[in-house]
Amino acid sequence: MFLKAKRSREWIIEEGKWDPRRNEIWESLFSLANGYIGVRGFPEEPFDAGPTSPGIFIAGVFGQGENMIPELVNVTNFLSVDISFEEEKFRMVPEKISDYSRVLDMKRGLLQRSVVYSFSGRSTRLEFERFASIAHPHRVSQSITITPLDWSGRTSLWFWMDAESSWRQNSLLKFLHSQHMGRDRILMATEAEHTKIRVAHACRCASWVAQAHPPKAWTVGVDAKIGFRYDMVLECGQKAVFNRVTATYSSIDPDVTSVERCCLDDVRGIADIKGVVYGVRRRRHVEAWSRRWDNSDIRIDGPVEDQKSVRFAIFHLNQVSPVKDMFSGIGAKGLSGEGYRGHVFWDTEIFMLPFYICSDPNAARRILQYRYHMLPGAMRKAAAMGYGGAMFPWESAHTGDETCPPYVPDPKTGDPVRVLTGELQHHVSADVAFGAWKYFLATGDGAFQEKELLTITVLTARFWASRIKMDQKTKRYVIRNVIGPDEYHEEIDNNAYTNFMALWNLKFAAEQAERMLRFHKRSHLVRELGITRNEIQEWGRIAENLFVPGAGVEGVIEQNDGFFKLDRVEPGPLSSRTSPDPEEIRMRMIHRSQILKQPDVLMLTVLFPEIFSKKIKLANWKYYEPLTTHDSSLSPGIHSIAASDLELRTKAYSYFKQSAGIDLTDAMGNTRTGLHFAAMGATWQAVTRGFLGLRLEGSEPVINPRLPTTWRKMSMRVCLCNIKYDIEAGHDACKVRIAGEERRRIDEQ
Ligand code: BGC
Repeated sequence: MFLKAKRSREWIIEEGKWDPRRNEIWESLFSLANGYIGVRGFPEEPFDAGPTSPGIFIAGVFGQGENMIPELVNVTNFLSVDISFEEEKFRMVPEKISDYSRVLDMKRGLLQRSVVYSFSGRSTRLEFERFASIAHPHRVSQSITITPLDWSGRTSLWFWMDAESSWRQNSLLKFLHSQHMGRDRILMATEAEHTKIRVAHACRCASWVAQAHPPKAWTVGVDAKIGFRYDMVLECGQKAVFNRVTATYSSIDPDVTSVERCCLDDVRGIADIKGVVYGVRRRRHVEAWSRRWDNSDIRIDGPVEDQKSVRFAIFHLNQVSPVKDMFSGIGAKGLSGEGYRGHVFWDTEIFMLPFYICSDPNAARRILQYRYHMLPGAMRKAAAMGYGGAMFPWESAHTGDETCPPYVPDPKTGDPVRVLTGELQHHVSADVAFGAWKYFLATGDGAFQEKELLTITVLTARFWASRIKMDQKTKRYVIRNVIGPDEYHEEIDNNAYTNFMALWNLKFAAEQAERMLRFHKRSHLVRELGITRNEIQEWGRIAENLFVPGAGVEGVIEQNDGFFKLDRVEPGPLSSRTSPDPEEIRMRMIHRSQILKQPDVLMLTVLFPEIFSKKIKLANWKYYEPLTTHDSSLSPGIHSIAASDLELRTKAYSYFKQSAGIDLTDAMGNTRTGLHFAAMGATWQAVTRGFLGLRLEGSEPVINPRLPTTWRKMSMRVCLCNIKYDIEAGHDACKVRIAGEERRRIDEQ
């Protein structure tokens, strides 16, 4: 079926030679999603040739186990299939498979697998295809084609819906009920542990065999595992096709009274004779992808691998773009795995958000509205820690309360390691406000400014005002006992990044609140938030007197009090990726040294490029870059931008390559638990903010290209204040025009 379709190399990610040991990594790389639901690229049939982690996740559907930490629930496997030829069950076994290919078609959002399975001298081609519809986000479709190549005989296929949890260690899914509906539909309802979020699925199955009657469907299984079985005798070369569409709804969807009813209504309608309905759904999905690509693609005239890896990042970021009317955040791993339990970090606002602001501002707004809806949880966190206002959690799930686990197992020994980030990594509150500001700058969205932006900035400023304390000795305001972006130094005072962001947050909130008092004094929100001139003045006073580590004689900004007194040693041996020592010992050595996990001061120079002079940027680059282990996947992309700002093109390109390869090369060694979405956002920024020098803050996009030498040119579309611009940049010439019309040329030589 799909084998003949022409595919361009830059649009596909191909597994190549089958190595079952790497299966879990491919499951993450090949995950499909549509903002609502995500399915890992696991094989449909039972798999035991290597590690596997089947996973299907729904944005915002969290459950809680005994430790009460919310986790994204791994829901019913509705793609599960068994296939048998005569008495032989199909399984991926190295000795029995040949002509294997598994391909992610990023242009069309399709995952396709093809394999020839041989047993007792009989060979059969199996072709699998699936997609998570972005035209209709509640639906996931799959198609399986079976063709005996050199034999005739009995073949059976089972379509399962499976809520059993054999592969899950701690299932947070409770089975409620299931039912066969006639000969082509199955309904299953489940519930998330503790949160009681109800999730239902209804699938509709169809089969056809070339030049024969379709086989009859037999109902099989009970309760948490039910399905249909089709038995047929296939002639040599005779194709049998099995299609299934599954609709999923959950009780957190807007306007849903019965999730079961919604699912059944969704799969009602005409039966899928000869795959016509499947084909129509597939076409709509492909067309929807084509519209997404129109607004978000970056075309690179340069090495094909660069093009491919940038598209890989754009593809996955597009896949988790939150759907309309749902305000779910994007977790660090999107919907691609169980890593970080589906929690949302600063990754979203600082690393991923710029992509959405530029390509799909409505999606960006939804991401920020998630934080707005989570404010009650953030206020609870602030109150519980003795502060005012709203303190966004370091790890956020479905309520906005802190969900960071206090301990995690040491990857080397399994021993519990204390995690302080949930208590001390406070900069996230300012990061969220910063993201909201950036969205406003690029869209001019006045309604957002007067509601979400105002509320978020006022409540976070209120938090900082209560958090910042006067140092009686110096008579300066200080922020003690925090963790900055560089998580390798804990319980530190006056972290440059945190203090700077807090200062920005206070000043910006004062500006926004002042504006509201001046122009909308009697507005409901001003009253509700209790904004007063006195409080605004207080924020101003604190901001004026807040100590922010400044550039010393050499231009270097001290990361936190006392950092310069620590040992300056080689970072390599103490990196989490090379050190053989258990975490406790490694961290003890790191705490005594100037080794960084990821950029901290450099983060500031990247977020506020206009505030720091080139001299200061260079001094800090020279000081901190050699000390950084890049043990966080967030690190290389930011270094690439910092290097581009300094015209260090070789470094900028090399860090771009590192960032773009984080998942494609499994550089962190943990891609199997899910993809690194912040790294994908950072890769996108390394190209746009770094190589293209793109800024979206005025009335028109501004660019300052410094492309890698191996690239001849690049082009992309950006959305600014509701106008779409097409940008094309080379080494000597660039064009910016309003999409669809040749408007003006800048800097053309
Ligand atoms: C990084 C954080 C990041 C988190 C989730 C950590 O390893 O240090 O900056 O937010 O991963 O991606």
